[in-house]
Amino acid sequence: MILDASTFPEGHVVRARVCVAGSGPAGMTLARALALRRIDVLLLEAGGPEPDDASQQLYAGRVEGDPYFELDLARLRCFGGTSGHWAGYCRPLDAHDFLPRADPPRPGWPIGRADLDPFLAAAAEILEIPDRFADRPVGSDLLRTVFHVSPPVRFGEKYRAFCAEDPHLRLCLRSAVVNLVPGAGGIRALEVVTEAGDGAQRRWQVEADDFVLALGGIENSRLLLWANATHGQALIPPAALGRYWMEHPTFSVAEAVVWRDPDGLFVNDQAFFALSPAALERSGGLNLSFDIDVMAYPDQTRALIADLMCAAPALGQAVMDAFGKNLVCGARVHAQCEQLPDAANRVALGEARDRLGLPRVVLHWRKSAADRAGVTRAVMALAEGFAAAGIGRLRLLDWVLDDRRPIPVDRVMASWHHMGGTRMGNSPADSVVDAQLRVHGLGNLHLAGSSVFPSGGYANPTLTIVQLSLRLADHLATRLAR
Ligand SMILES: Cc1cc2nc3c(=O)[nH]c(=O)nc-3n(C[C@H](O)[C@H](O)[C@H](O)COP(=O)(O)OP(=O)(O)OC[C@H]3O[C@@H](n4cnc5c(N)ncnc54)[C@H](O)[C@@H]3O)c2cc1C
Repeated sequence: MILDASTFPEGHVVRARVCVAGSGPAGMTLARALALRRIDVLLLEAGGPEPDDASQQLYAGRVEGDPYFELDLARLRCFGGTSGHWAGYCRPLDAHDFLPRADPPRPGWPIGRADLDPFLAAAAEILEIPDRFADRPVGSDLLRTVFHVSPPVRFGEKYRAFCAEDPHLRLCLRSAVVNLVPGAGGIRALEVVTEAGDGAQRRWQVEADDFVLALGGIENSRLLLWANATHGQALIPPAALGRYWMEHPTFSVAEAVVWRDPDGLFVNDQAFFALSPAALERSGGLNLSFDIDVMAYPDQTRALIADLMCAAPALGQAVMDAFGKNLVCGARVHAQCEQLPDAANRVALGEARDRLGLPRVVLHWRKSAADRAGVTRAVMALAEGFAAAGIGRLRLLDWVLDDRRPIPVDRVMASWHHMGGTRMGNSPADSVVDAQLRVHGLGNLHLAGSSVFPSGGYANPTLTIVQLSLRLADHLATRLAR
């Protein structure tokens, strides 16, 4: 059922068993999974049914550090959330992404891949992708990895009718959570503002047994920082709040000649590779996805081979011979990279306020020297693995070989993936939520979405987000049944 919250009187209170805020992949998956179990859910969505400028304006903020996308363009504030313009690439995190690492230093997750695997099939069904990811070993050090591409599922479109018709779910659009109301041992209510068509604002509240914030990988931190600023700094454990924010930086790292593809590694002139877990560990590098695209331009391939002829004449000649037989292609190598969690990369509150009274976001984001070193090590290991497997040769770009050279901003900088800020862990001293996604110290407040990731691997996050929401639905249903 869809409620028109603009008709609520000022100070109105709505009661629900569970209140979920945010209707993107995280919140919608959770709200639907609970409603399907006949649990009464109120779903709050800040935006309207479709994207609009007035709503996007509330996402504007400032970025300090490396070049990054405008924050009001990097996500969608409307029904269905950012799934309204995601690209649909899906892959689960690797099992080793959940483990702690000493070099480079990275905390582990309090859960493992085995805790999410039971939710893979259901998540794949929601995203309309196959649920098998059969990576293929190539030589001893490489994997030819698999991504599946969702149509892409737009959560707003796909679940609009469900929200309108399901008897256990009530949806309020244009209803933004603007603060938490603390109660004994938890949260008593959420404070909500609904904007009517004429710009008038109605303030009302939701009371519930359990609350889940699924506001996206920046807004979860923003709202909780604001709650701390208004209710005393320790309502939410402050040590890690907003911090350890991560993206998947992307770079052009190399050019390649590929001279044999006996096993059909390339599909539509493209293949994804990663280091095997053992090779990754040996390299001391970060977990990277290498995307190798065969070039459409023979001139560039010839130029690449000419370079090879100078540097390694015998190799160049072999390549030249194969080229005559149409076996060689030039290829560009791009990398989508894990980023190390760094407390300095954080969501913070700025001085400027938006029209609902919330401080605008200031996002501090830099790629550190350790990130850069981790990329270089992994790219070197890829080059060795590529040659050893007899697929071809890589020519690494100058910036990879010489860390005094600036990283060129030649592609898309990052992947539009917002992770961290409210990370999962066992202690409030260095995390915000526990293994069940419950905010430390607050009995009935949970978080959903990639803000809870303690590390991000290289896999696009949405499949993991949906798996986590399905797991959270199980957990909440069990709690409520007690
Ligand atoms: C261009 C682009 C391409 C992408 N491609 C991929 C890809 O190929 N693969 C992949 O895995 N990921 C991709 N992503 C990332 C993907 O979109 C996100 O991982 C995913 O949408 C996150 O889901 P979410 O529900 O956590 O957050 P969101 O989708 O951002 O949803 C958050 C929801 O909360 C609402 N909200 C915010 N604040 C409030 C508030 N105060 N009160 C109430 N509601 C609120 C928002 O309006 C929104 O509906 C891409 C993103 C972009 C921008």
